[in-house]
Amino acid sequence: MLKNNGKKAALSAACAAGLCLLLLLALALQHPRAQVPEQVSQDGARPGSERKGFSAYFGTLARARREVEKPAGSPRAPPASGDPPPAEDISVDDVFIAVKTTKKFHQSRLKLLLDTWISRNVQQTYVFTDGEDEELKKKIGSHAVNTNCSAAHSRQALSCKMAVEYDKFIESGKKWFCHVDDDNYVNARALVKHLSQYQHTQDMYIGKPSLDRPIEATERLGDNKMKPVNFWFATGGAGFCVSRGLALKMSPWASGGHFMNTAEKIRLPDDCTIGYIIESVLGVHLTRSNLFHSHLENLQQVSRSDIPKQITLSYGMFENKSNIISLKGAFSVEEDPSRFKSVHCLLYPDTPWCPPQVAF
Ligand code: UDP
Ligand code: MN
Repeated sequence: MLKNNGKKAALSAACAAGLCLLLLLALALQHPRAQVPEQVSQDGARPGSERKGFSAYFGTLARARREVEKPAGSPRAPPASGDPPPAEDISVDDVFIAVKTTKKFHQSRLKLLLDTWISRNVQQTYVFTDGEDEELKKKIGSHAVNTNCSAAHSRQALSCKMAVEYDKFIESGKKWFCHVDDDNYVNARALVKHLSQYQHTQDMYIGKPSLDRPIEATERLGDNKMKPVNFWFATGGAGFCVSRGLALKMSPWASGGHFMNTAEKIRLPDDCTIGYIIESVLGVHLTRSNLFHSHLENLQQVSRSDIPKQITLSYGMFENKSNIISLKGAFSVEEDPSRFKSVHCLLYPDTPWCPPQVAF
């Protein structure tokens, strides 16, 4: 157990980082992703595991700051930048884009995506939710998937959705599986260009790590035995992709009900479970890409001229402040708080609702 003094010091460090205690507790209690350290410490198998849990959380904060300061190093290095010739000629039709959402966000988040990037990629995009929505069905038909998973923001509910995403992808026969959250903008052109650098038959897991070092977890082996495991994982909030070749190898741990069982074995959220299966079980390394963005990094750092190259963008809160990309675009921040409409008009200026092209 963390001693009181240690706790105080740790919490004041968190406050110095711009987070108040309430936020920290609220995050730890409600937020599966921020819960990671709590989940790690839940096993009770290792003395001092709670301390590890807190330090892992602070590591996340430190990571978010470091991401702002330097471009990144570890896991597997991506191919040198520039424009390498495609390893495989793919089109957007080869990509299965899974959007995770929940009924209460259909209006507040999903609608914006449907009006922007999804409208250009309806055939490639599947929305995984937890309730019936006739209006949504009218818009995207069978691409609205009611997972029948619980609408709670719990580890189990999120893993339940990921399990359905995985199964639907396998069923689709497509070459690449990409997962995003409902607060991500997906630039399909940049996505396809990036994935073309690899063969879908290769073992590829591409995304942005959520921590600055591998996560430390405990695998439950049965017979009350535990085994410590360390692995990198791509944060679901920035989006990530898995090649079909690799996804097929994941099947014994990910298909049908297996994903939920695997998630239970390590007691971590869905995106960590994907990392566990790929890195720990299959021994394949995450390929890092800085073109995926979550709102856990400072989005102001993405420059306007780089926006068309980014694969995903996001919006939300970071260090207790609103976190959006800085883009003087077609719409004001009041009209377009996420900046997604302005991004969309930058990428697709022929969109009917975009104001006539002017130099911003
Ligand atoms: N989400 C969900 N059920 C919930 C709350 C959230 O499926 O009860 C989904 C949400 O739609 C989003 C993802 O989980 O795709 C992450 O949620 P959020 O952006 O609110 O949290 P964070 O990015 O901070 O983890
Ligand atoms: Mn989010």
